[in-house]
Amino acid sequence: MNGINACPRCQAPLGDDRLGSVRVYPCAACGGLALTVSQLRRLADKETFYPFWAAIRSAPPALLACPSCDRPMSAADVSGVEVDGCVRCTVIWLDAGEQEQLFSLPPPTPKATQVADQLIAREQVAATRQRRRQQDALDTTQRLLELLLWWAW
Ligand SMILES: [Zn+2]
Ligand SMILES: [Zn+2]
Repeated sequence: MNGINACPRCQAPLGDDRLGSVRVYPCAACGGLALTVSQLRRLADKETFYPFWAAIRSAPPALLACPSCDRPMSAADVSGVEVDGCVRCTVIWLDAGEQEQLFSLPPPTPKATQVADQLIAREQVAATRQRRRQQDALDTTQRLLELLLWWAW
């Protein structure tokens, strides 16, 4: 594992926090949470944890990139909740609210030092959204061109 870096949802830098004695990496921008499998095993009861990890291990890779190695994480459906994890790095990603839904865990409380990060993160989210909008516009142009070519034939 290379350490846990950016949020897979919004690319904001992840915080470094604790839920009880367990180390977690929350995203101040989207409320998601990264943590390692060994840390999650300490937090969750085993009836919840083992099927959860088994589902991720047998799931195919999906869209979200691992916050540690940047490769696509596996996405599994666990009790109707889509969860992501990297089997190589044994890193789990939980979107906002999923830790409560799946493991009855409270969200971590952001530290004072993270307030500044949060502001930066928000700006980065806005920048990412802007890029996405530009990409959408490009995709639309591309589709129109394809249609025109099709008509020309
Ligand atoms: Zn995020
Ligand atoms: Zn990984």
